Amino acid sequence: MKAQPKASHFIDGEYVEDTAGTVIESVYPATGEVIARLHAATPAIVERAIAAAKRAQPEWAAMSPTARGRILKRAAEIMRERNRELSELETLDTGKPIQETIVADPTSGADSFEFFGGVAAAALNGDYIPLGQDFAYTKRVPLGVCVGIGAWNYPQQIACWKGAPALAAGNAMVFKPSENTPLGALKIAEILVEAGLPKGLYNVIQGDRSTGPLLVNHPDVAKVSLTGSVPTGKKVAGAAAAELKHVTMELGGKSPLIVFDDADLESAIGGAMLGNFYSTGQVCSNGTRVFVQRKVKDAFLARLKERTEAIVIGDPMDEATQLGPMVSRAQRDKVFAYIEKGKAEGARLVTGGGIPNAVNTDGTYIQPTVFADVTDEMTIAREEIFGPVMCVLDFDDEAEVVARANATEFGLSAGVFTADITRAHRVVDQIEAGTLWINTYNLCPVEIPFGGSKQSGFGRENSVAALNHYTELKTVYVAMGKVEAPY
Ligand code: NAD
Repeated sequence: MKAQPKASHFIDGEYVEDTAGTVIESVYPATGEVIARLHAATPAIVERAIAAAKRAQPEWAAMSPTARGRILKRAAEIMRERNRELSELETLDTGKPIQETIVADPTSGADSFEFFGGVAAAALNGDYIPLGQDFAYTKRVPLGVCVGIGAWNYPQQIACWKGAPALAAGNAMVFKPSENTPLGALKIAEILVEAGLPKGLYNVIQGDRSTGPLLVNHPDVAKVSLTGSVPTGKKVAGAAAAELKHVTMELGGKSPLIVFDDADLESAIGGAMLGNFYSTGQVCSNGTRVFVQRKVKDAFLARLKERTEAIVIGDPMDEATQLGPMVSRAQRDKVFAYIEKGKAEGARLVTGGGIPNAVNTDGTYIQPTVFADVTDEMTIAREEIFGPVMCVLDFDDEAEVVARANATEFGLSAGVFTADITRAHRVVDQIEAGTLWINTYNLCPVEIPFGGSKQSGFGRENSVAALNHYTELKTVYVAMGKVEAPY
């Protein structure tokens, strides 16, 4: 089998198998071929992973942040040296074209290890608080055993975005990748050990929605960081709340991308295409509601259609391919159902909507799709589709578009294209979202915080802000005189 790992899980520094777990088949989305067979974690495997993490964490936390950071930075170097191999694995895991994975997946994971490896020594400081003759100081302390649960769209990136800040802050992690993409995280665990990470600090176990609760409910787990859908987020946050555990929730969205009539249209179209078709549309922060000011609507749609129909669809391992298949047949069926709903509810199909010609029909390919004349009430404008389906809506003025952009339970991201710098800042100021872009879309370098508001979640990944979510403050009051008690 093309991508069979040594075993299903990576615990305490080594590969571990337990064939009693349910079989998880890893399918290459471009061909439908089974490329690996793994097993979901049994309760015994879950226990073993958490016990290893719990045992290893105190010694790791006692190391200096510089020493911890050195290991993470070495892991970043190894990831860069092995970028081609890791990118090919990511393409097999997800079906995303190598043209993308080679620049966006292991590289962004490596950025994360490099960044957190570097800032650990500078950003984990506390405060000194003068109190007259007394004083207090604060310490940022790790939480202990943290659980990461991943989605299938960026398996390696998610494994690193959770692992790097957790480890930099002195925690241990047990990571469960999505059952659709079980392969990448195992390699990350392997590389961390090669870089010198002590055993037990970064463990990977496989499993599906029934395995997740075993991790979330475990009494030795202090924190859960989930990347997934809103319904899953509600379940996981609810379970964590029952035991008052820390949580980070990176959930879904239906983000607005607003194009004013003074915008550079080629850039706005490029931004809208990146924000709907990159990774075959399977990106949480996508700007799936594209509001275009009426005066430029026809020009926008004509050029968008032309550029969309020129997208190269095909074998993801071919470097010329720009759009690969969707991650699974189930996900594609879901997207086709939304396309049918869009047509039935009166949206105008500008391009796409079907299966492209000249692709492997056993793969889960879908044409990049654009709907115009979409209205706010349509299902395709309200629900997250999570596929390459762009909805173009018209608007007339600024106040109207801001109100409509905010009329959603989601609040992950937003984008504004305009040449008017004052308007750009005024609009982003009013949009309810966690991450916003002006005259670009979907850029998420590790230096900037990423995360959502409203039902898109809470907590932030990346940037120094992420360290706060993997630590808590300890306050120490120091008395310099005698205790004066009234009794
Ligand atoms: P999903 O919610 O179905 O699954 C996410 C993960 O949660 C999987 O590993 C799954 O096994 C696990 N899980 C499911 N039920 C669980 C439970 N009850 N307890 C514990 N774990 C459970 O999501 P998906 O289909 O894998 O990914 C797509 C979704 O993820 C989309 O909604 C997308 O917007 C979102 N997403 C968000 C971000 C972000 O950073 N905000 C990034 C990528 C994807």
